[in-house]
Amino acid sequence: MPSDSRIVAEVDFTRDGRQHGFLRLFHSVHSSAYGFIPVPVVVLRNGDGPTALLVAGNHGDEYEGQVALANLARRLDPARMRGRVIILPALNLPAAVAGRRTSPIDDGNLNRSFPGDPNGTPTQQLAYYVEHELVPMANLVCDLHSGGSSLMYLPTAQLPGYRPDELGARGLAALAAFGAETAYVVAANQGGDQTLTGACLRQGVLSVATEAGGAGHLTAGALRMVERGVNNLLVHLGVLQEADRIAPPQPTRLLEVGGPDYYVYASDNGVFEPLAEPGETVMAGQPAARLHFPETPWAEPVLLSFQRKGVVLCKRMPGRSMRGDCLFHLGTEIGPGGPYSG
Ligand code: CA
Repeated sequence: MPSDSRIVAEVDFTRDGRQHGFLRLFHSVHSSAYGFIPVPVVVLRNGDGPTALLVAGNHGDEYEGQVALANLARRLDPARMRGRVIILPALNLPAAVAGRRTSPIDDGNLNRSFPGDPNGTPTQQLAYYVEHELVPMANLVCDLHSGGSSLMYLPTAQLPGYRPDELGARGLAALAAFGAETAYVVAANQGGDQTLTGACLRQGVLSVATEAGGAGHLTAGALRMVERGVNNLLVHLGVLQEADRIAPPQPTRLLEVGGPDYYVYASDNGVFEPLAEPGETVMAGQPAARLHFPETPWAEPVLLSFQRKGVVLCKRMPGRSMRGDCLFHLGTEIGPGGPYSG
């Protein structure tokens, strides 16, 4: 398991009980010659058993997972569990502290930095450590995302990187166990190899994720969904007992997200007027947005439309938009008997 990562963990991942400390990500700068970036880590272990790796703050401006995992790190009692839970609530710490998607130190987007580089920038070194040291310890990885500053998601659980194999089947079972009101599947051929999900696929480790909410803020409902889901994943994995399961209020509605026609992008620079909201079902050809041009008010707004029928999963939040910005993406209903019916 030892890789050539330069990161040093202050915790012993093999020790029983509760430990907390930091991953020391060394970063020599003008103001701190021998200093390190302290990435917080909590390890809870009670004997042999499965290992869950729970991660948030992969993107620093996505808060539901950060708060849920901080709460879990204090609440979870090693005596009432079996196996091991490794919790990293603020994985890309400089980005989390700054409340930004990317790290202000190296502009690194951690979830586009895998498989990483042991000798690269701090963000690349972190990606390398996660993929080569943490993921191989895990039986299940849960990477808690939301829409960040620019997008608002219908609170969902998601299974990215789906392949119709044994790992994919276990992923669908874990997604169902999470118990979100809405969940969606993205096939592996839709990309994502630079993400933590890609790292898990390369290491053959089961992973599930969320897109919990977003818009650069925290909502109580999305936080509850994440806390319930993570708890239920720990039950599913056998770390917690069946009696610990929190029953979801309804069965999960399963959607899938496919190719470019699931997305609506800004065709021009302008002010984005949304004509649909997350959770709404829209039809092919239905108007999605108007782009307005206050600088040239004599120019007619541009009307953009959805290219297919589906459920609106996320919406861009900032009004001012540039050509190429993602304004919406959809998910489509999955019928029984399809590739995801298990
Ligand atoms: Ca994200």
